[in-house]
Amino acid sequence: MPITEIIARKRDRGELSAAEIAAAVSGFVRGDVSDGQMAALLMAIVLNGMNDRECADLTTAMVDSGERLDLSAIPGTKVDKHSTGGVGDKTTLVVAPLVAALGVPVPKMSGRALGHTGGTIDKLEVIRGLRTDLGPERFVAQVSKIGIAIAAQSATLVPADKRIYALRDETATVESIPLIASSVMSKKLAAGADAIVLDVKAGGGAFMTDLESASDLARVMVDIGARHGKRMVAVVTRMDQPLGRAVGDAVELAEAVATLGGGGPPDLVELCEVLAAHMLVLGGVAASLEDGRARARQGLRSGVGRAKLKEMALAQGGGPASLDDPDLLTRGLEQMPVHLDRSGIVVRLDARQIGFALRQLKTAAGEKRCCCGLLLHTKVGDAAGGSEGATLLYPAGARDAALAAVNRVRAAYHIGAAAPPRPPLVAATFAS
Ligand code: URA
Repeated sequence: MPITEIIARKRDRGELSAAEIAAAVSGFVRGDVSDGQMAALLMAIVLNGMNDRECADLTTAMVDSGERLDLSAIPGTKVDKHSTGGVGDKTTLVVAPLVAALGVPVPKMSGRALGHTGGTIDKLEVIRGLRTDLGPERFVAQVSKIGIAIAAQSATLVPADKRIYALRDETATVESIPLIASSVMSKKLAAGADAIVLDVKAGGGAFMTDLESASDLARVMVDIGARHGKRMVAVVTRMDQPLGRAVGDAVELAEAVATLGGGGPPDLVELCEVLAAHMLVLGGVAASLEDGRARARQGLRSGVGRAKLKEMALAQGGGPASLDDPDLLTRGLEQMPVHLDRSGIVVRLDARQIGFALRQLKTAAGEKRCCCGLLLHTKVGDAAGGSEGATLLYPAGARDAALAAVNRVRAAYHIGAAAPPRPPLVAATFAS
């Protein structure tokens, strides 16, 4: 069937067959389907959705666009982890080395910033010299040897996602359950782990803004993984305000290192413990979630995860200096305060606005984008009046963009009379 008819069928709320989905995806990768045609199909999917069978077929078509990693040479149960993306979400940088240090191999392929959210690879590349373009052989050899590798999505794995992901970023077609589920799960399936823990973000700072659609996304991804024989856990976690106190590549890496050393803000620590506990159970190291959480807490206190992160950085060519002294990551940067003049309590801190403020600033900073960051001294439930609510860090030469970012960050603070209720960070859990 010609691609125009496939687009029209989805535009008219029809159901696509496995063959039609495969033709669209493979045609796009070959160059027979243009960017414009794929963008139109993506928008039709955003607007009209896909059923579970179509989501699974889209995922399979994406996996089939490239190679699959063979991890069979690595002993043990390999456990992967993925977040659907949030503001200030640096959990992978904490959880992956922590779990690896506690005995579960973690082969992790990660992405770059998308929309208003940050990307693990951008944060990791702040470490001077560190390479994330590991080929499959080097990736497998490193996980076999030290239990962990975090690499950028390889061009040979799911090439369809690489191109579709970039097109979605340019065409406002990111927020869609079938597109997010197939994007995440195709990469996870091609990367070959035995079990997968997903952190599905819900709230203003996430792609899924309400708990219902985030839970739907979690359910769809668990279903796709189970159909492919993977053990799956998906936790739905709240992302209304940024996670932790740092937003931006360098400052988030510094916060992750502090957390791995037994410090870190309570919300980040809690989420890291929960995710690590699920991974330890799936990996057969912990007998129960409680046991996993206790091991994770002890691992953060003892610093074994921090040592593992350093070992990984060295294995990937990175210099250890910034991990030994995270202050180096922000030394020499310009600072601008975000004053909160109204007195009262912070009732809402709009994570999406903060994400976009940072994205704009990073665009203006060009090559020094990783130096742009925000430190949130005041979060929801804290008193505001007259204080420096946050500090913006930026490279010299980006002062005008920094002023604009400060105004946008200030507008993200909503001040009221009384502290709002604090719902639990983990809203729901789905497992296969
Ligand atoms: N993360 C992904 O890998 N893909 C998406 O579509 C959204 C978040």
